[in-house]
Amino acid sequence: MTNKNQPSVAYFCMEYGLETNFKMFAGGLGILAGDFLKGAKDGNYPIVGIGIKWKQGYTTQVISEDGTPIDTYPIYDYDFLEDTGVMVKVDIRKRPVYCKVWKCIQFGNADLYLLDTDLPENEDSWITGQLYGWFGEERIAQEMVLGVGGVRALRALGLDIDIYHFNEGHALFAGFELMREKMEAGSDFEKAWTDSRKEIVFTTHTPVVQGNESHPIDRIMYMGANMGLKRSELRKLGGNPFNMTVGGLRLSKKSNAVAQLHGVTANKMWRKIKDKDEIIAITNGVHHGTWVDSGMIDACEKNDNSLWERHMHNKDGLIQIVKEKTGIELDREKLLIGFSRRAVPYKRSDLIFTDPATIDPLLESRRIQLVFSGKGHPLDDNGKAIVRRLVEMQRKYPGAVVFLPNYDMEIGAHLTRGSDVWLNNPRRPKEASGTSGMKAAMNGVLNLSILDGWWPEACDHGNNGWKIGDEKVPRDQDKQDAKDLKALYRVLKKDVIPTYYKNREKWIGMMRNSIRNTKDEFSVDRMLKEYYDLLYSA
Ligand SMILES: *Cc1c(COP(=O)(O)O)cnc(C)c1O
Repeated sequence: MTNKNQPSVAYFCMEYGLETNFKMFAGGLGILAGDFLKGAKDGNYPIVGIGIKWKQGYTTQVISEDGTPIDTYPIYDYDFLEDTGVMVKVDIRKRPVYCKVWKCIQFGNADLYLLDTDLPENEDSWITGQLYGWFGEERIAQEMVLGVGGVRALRALGLDIDIYHFNEGHALFAGFELMREKMEAGSDFEKAWTDSRKEIVFTTHTPVVQGNESHPIDRIMYMGANMGLKRSELRKLGGNPFNMTVGGLRLSKKSNAVAQLHGVTANKMWRKIKDKDEIIAITNGVHHGTWVDSGMIDACEKNDNSLWERHMHNKDGLIQIVKEKTGIELDREKLLIGFSRRAVPYKRSDLIFTDPATIDPLLESRRIQLVFSGKGHPLDDNGKAIVRRLVEMQRKYPGAVVFLPNYDMEIGAHLTRGSDVWLNNPRRPKEASGTSGMKAAMNGVLNLSILDGWWPEACDHGNNGWKIGDEKVPRDQDKQDAKDLKALYRVLKKDVIPTYYKNREKWIGMMRNSIRNTKDEFSVDRMLKEYYDLLYSA
């Protein structure tokens, strides 16, 4: 079945976005992991995934009467998971925790093994309860199940693994387990480190320093996550407090950032870290079968009106979903701008509303319509305030602004094929990659974006989308916001709106360029090939 010449890979990730109703994901990291496993299956690569079977998954976020996001945690029963019959044990805080191993192959994905502690024999059955539900000891417990339990599951399943790929620092304790195995067989710390490194690769994500998880070494020791390593040895790997990303960089033979610009940022960010591996850049890609309307790809090569007609079909689909979910009826003839991001301040979801004198006439005349989506983290009041503000805007501009609650894969797919324009305006350089813009681009939805994440690699301004502003980033945050706002309004009024209403032919030409320039370059197939060429085999 698989290609014998390629190294076999175990891919570790906290979350997997495989299907909208399989609530094992929170956001972009999970979507990437889900697409990765589907691409692995399509390309017949010898890859398996390791993850956690979350009892409640991530929040299902509903909006109350007064616009406040409310978190709910329905419990789902998944009847498509196969029981492998394998059970492994991890000692957490000196108590045995049994992890049942499930297998998921349901969604056209490579084999995914999911660990589950929700068993009657466990005192600590809560560990796999909520994805990103907690931060401190609880998070370490979850990461021990993923990392340590994951390696033990691979052993118990009898799978032969050449490369352990940690997607984000969450899986780092798998590296400690690999070292423990070697030290138990007689290696000293240095040798176990060197040898484990040869079989580990690491993908780093967030370019925001505070977004990189760290723990006091005392906490790691108390939880038993050190796997026999001494404090001084832990300090050598991840510093004190122990930084999971730094540990990942020091415990892998090579690591990667998730876009070219992110590669530059990540190398700058971690330049003071000695003994780390090389950080290369492999830009993310998306899975066509999940995100791209093949009708658009086909129509792109035809010289008739079919590209526009197919797009309007997709736009009608989005308008329908909006109506079902909110009762609001959008106008199919008017420019529709989509925006969907996690609700965190640096993504600046509400930037476009900053100056009422500019935006009011555009919205009141329906020259533009805005559809938003995105969840705030359950424990983040700032994020919830952003959601509240977007709901407020929906009330302020009835019929012209929509907020779709509970962003999920279904909403994501509709937004990235049914919008006319995909707006993205984070502060820089904070967007690691961003895959929703890729989905949009391949569906002929024109990107209107800050030059962050993947967009500098694809942007051909005025030909396949637009940049907001330029490469220069004022260091002062308020200045950056003011500069970007001005640039956003300018390109919107000078380019986007006139082209849409007055030069449909040019618009359709841009859609064609957008699809042609991105469909292969930003596919998960290209990404997997690079993972093999530049990380696994290198
Ligand atoms: C594509 C997608 C993401 C990731 O998009 P970003 O551009 O990284 O924000 C997150 N959530 C859902 C539901 C998606 O479909």
